Amino acid sequence: MGVIDRYRDYLPVTGKTPVISLEEGGTPLVRADLIAERIGPGYAVWLKYEGLNPTASFKDRGMTMAVSKALEEGSRAVACASTGNTSASAAAFAARAKIKCVVVIPEGAIALGKLAQALIHGATVIAIRGNFDQALDIVREICEKYPIALVNSINPYRIEGQKTASFEVCDSLGHAPDYHALPVGNAGNITAYWKGYKEYKERGKVDRLPVMLGFQAAGAAPIVEKRVIEDPRTLATAIKIGNPASWKQAEAARDESGGLIDKVTDEEIIEAYRLLAAGVGIFVEPASAAGIAGILKKAKQGYFPAVTSPSERKDIVCVLTGHGLKDPDMAIKCLETPVVVDAKIEEVIREAGI
Ligand SMILES: *Cc1c(COP(=O)(O)O)cnc(C)c1O
Repeated sequence: MGVIDRYRDYLPVTGKTPVISLEEGGTPLVRADLIAERIGPGYAVWLKYEGLNPTASFKDRGMTMAVSKALEEGSRAVACASTGNTSASAAAFAARAKIKCVVVIPEGAIALGKLAQALIHGATVIAIRGNFDQALDIVREICEKYPIALVNSINPYRIEGQKTASFEVCDSLGHAPDYHALPVGNAGNITAYWKGYKEYKERGKVDRLPVMLGFQAAGAAPIVEKRVIEDPRTLATAIKIGNPASWKQAEAARDESGGLIDKVTDEEIIEAYRLLAAGVGIFVEPASAAGIAGILKKAKQGYFPAVTSPSERKDIVCVLTGHGLKDPDMAIKCLETPVVVDAKIEEVIREAGI
């Protein structure tokens, strides 16, 4: 069952809404003791593994809503600007709905796997000589002038669909976590999670709210630095955003929850990326490691209070936003390529250190 059918009572749909679903959502919450050990005694770290969605990122939760509503409202096409995952998801759901999808991307800035997805699902992909923010301006204007639905995260239905991930976290844990950490790019996801947690509390499903911890890449940290970044830089392409669409909502989530939005360097991101893959067994794309890099940084700074009573476990949920196979070039780039030996058993044994 997809997120619309699962959480219908919490979403702006009716019996007449044509549900376009790829059975998104229902992703696992994986416990990671290796990370928890680095936070401190009494802490548990849980990884919400969103890379296991149909197009391998959390964007599918919002896209099922955005495309279903676009269809309901009579649109025959959808469009988006994208750093990659939005276009992959929009292309797949548009294919499912049998409508056209137009994608505008910054030239040369999209990970290979994501571009392959948009193309194979049949989207019309146009690369511009410019950055994401310029791509979004163009698409916004097109959608104002033509009967095409904009499916970027400024589309309120995207946020509605994405908030279902907080319901799943609460349903899995049996309560809301103490802390919720995630990467921040356009800030739609932090907005969506916070909205979801608040709604679950209002409906009496949980009795508390988490502290929200958002992390931007150091070269693309407009919210942290309180200014638009004209030329954002980071190897975490999914969060390479200089002027977040949901800036104010992200600040509200931070302030209302008593949390923070901080930045992590590309080195810290890559360290967390490798730790997740080699130490935990989960391969994510670099942007997804920003939340882990962030909590490790905050732990070193003494941010997390000591847990005094053993019965008082504190839960930190980290969202792993997208799958590592989206960006295989990055993994290869930061590792040594395999050695080549003659096809002889003794040579393989020697190199393998057996
Ligand atoms: C979109 C995306 C983000 C950033 O999410 P926002 O809602 O733009 O803040 C982070 N990681 C991945 C893998 C993404 O696809």
